[in-house]
Amino acid sequence: MTPPSEDSTVVLSSGRGPGLVSRGIQAGTLDGLVNLILETAALNDAGVLIFRALKRIEDVFPKAVRGAHIDLQAGGRRLHAGSWVRGGAAAGPLREEALSQFTASGCGLLLPLLEPGPVSVILAPIRTRGRITGALYLESAPGGEPFTDADLRLATAAAMAVTVGLDNSQLYSELLTSLEFNEGILQGLGSGLLAVDAAGVVRKVNGVGLELLGLHAVDVLRRPLSEIPALAPLVPLARKVLQTGERLDRQELDLTRKEGQTPFGVTLVPLKTPSGSVDGVIANFRDLTQVRRLAELVRRGQRLAALGEMAAGVAHEIRNPLNSIRGFVEIILERTQGEDRRYMQIVVEEVERINHIVGGMLDFARQQDFPRVPTDLSKVLLRAQALVAASAERAHVRLTSQVPETCRVLGHADKLEQVFLNLLQNAVEAIAGGGDVALSAAPASEAGVPGWTVRVSDTGAGIPPEDLEKLFSPFFTRKEKGTGLGLAVCHRIVEAHGGRIEVESRPGQGTVFSVWLPGVPS
Ligand code: ADP
Ligand code: MG
Repeated sequence: MTPPSEDSTVVLSSGRGPGLVSRGIQAGTLDGLVNLILETAALNDAGVLIFRALKRIEDVFPKAVRGAHIDLQAGGRRLHAGSWVRGGAAAGPLREEALSQFTASGCGLLLPLLEPGPVSVILAPIRTRGRITGALYLESAPGGEPFTDADLRLATAAAMAVTVGLDNSQLYSELLTSLEFNEGILQGLGSGLLAVDAAGVVRKVNGVGLELLGLHAVDVLRRPLSEIPALAPLVPLARKVLQTGERLDRQELDLTRKEGQTPFGVTLVPLKTPSGSVDGVIANFRDLTQVRRLAELVRRGQRLAALGEMAAGVAHEIRNPLNSIRGFVEIILERTQGEDRRYMQIVVEEVERINHIVGGMLDFARQQDFPRVPTDLSKVLLRAQALVAASAERAHVRLTSQVPETCRVLGHADKLEQVFLNLLQNAVEAIAGGGDVALSAAPASEAGVPGWTVRVSDTGAGIPPEDLEKLFSPFFTRKEKGTGLGLAVCHRIVEAHGGRIEVESRPGQGTVFSVWLPGVPS
């Protein structure tokens, strides 16, 4: 401990000279002071620290009948709860003249004899960050033995021990706050964060990280990265950063989760010591599933928009000559007999087929602008269900639905009916030899927008993964008599509603189409 400096201790009036510390202090007093220093050094709570210090000071100053900590902060003057009056006697007012002299001088002082009493008073400054924020106040017994310079020095030393303790406790609490702050940042991050040390051992991982990886802290913390199977693909990247000291931005890799492989975007940053050597690596990662899903939806939308324009153009061009052909063929048909008539009939049928396809193309191209009004989606769904009921029965398909009556969206009833009719038809057609088709609707929010998700699921053949990407493109069909326009039209209608259509399928098990539609704004 630093000894009390001469300039912070002023002896106002004293019958004895300096140097009394060594001569005037008894062994017991020294013990008390040492105890005070030891005890305050170990405390981090300012209130408790002052309380204990005042208790010790009572032992150190048998002459004092009163000991107080005066808190001078915030313009006030408060006595600490641990302030005492020996023997529990009633505490009189503090000696004002001593206090005003102390405030004026700003340093430790000893006022030898004050009336009434007479009593002597010691005031020793307590500082926080160099500023006087309090004072240790001691008062001797009225008419009793007055304080000496040695007592003042002792009090100054005690006040200094309190000062050091208070500074420490403040630093400690700042450190804690900053640690909590850092931890708060770490845990509050929207992305996963994982820190490994130079040996590749995981030192830190935040809650989001654990959640994203589907792991528990015990699976990860203090374990080498290479021994955590789910994180194996990170090992070579982390090693590279440790070796080169250079960050790796936006790496894409698949990590294994319980649900299977999940795409992750990872940025790895080296942790460097002040001297520049690499001490570890911080990996910041996020799940790219949604990002990829949205990117795919956007790509699909763009592809279909371009195709839509082309389809509209081509359909118009075909429709006129087709109408002429049809007109003339019908005239010829009436005049033809025998085998030729049969051929002409086939021509009529084929022209009809082309007409149907062209109609579909125009339909697809037109699905853009239509009015949308609050619409009872449950009615729409039940109508679509009724329309496929007959073909479902023929195909031995059990059709079930779970649709709440409150289901309302901002939409166009006929267009929406077309969507769900197409989906239900496809579902029924996917089932050979009997099965189930289920229609359901449930409230769901997307990006904070409330709405409804409608699911059409079937226990049919399923869709091979290589087909999934082409599914919504016009003319993609695996059916002999299909047009391949059903899903393309669905996509366009749903998109024009500000919604989303998605598919999940397991070949051999079945398929689920989900359509999310924004609800009616309140
Ligand atoms: P189409 O029904 O005329 O073939 P769609 O656009 O409605 O055209 O469907 C395109 C293709 O997507 C279908 O030919 C089929 O291969 C596949 N498909 C659509 N829905 C399902 C489903 N529920 N189960 C299996 N395959 C489906
Ligand atoms: Mg179809």
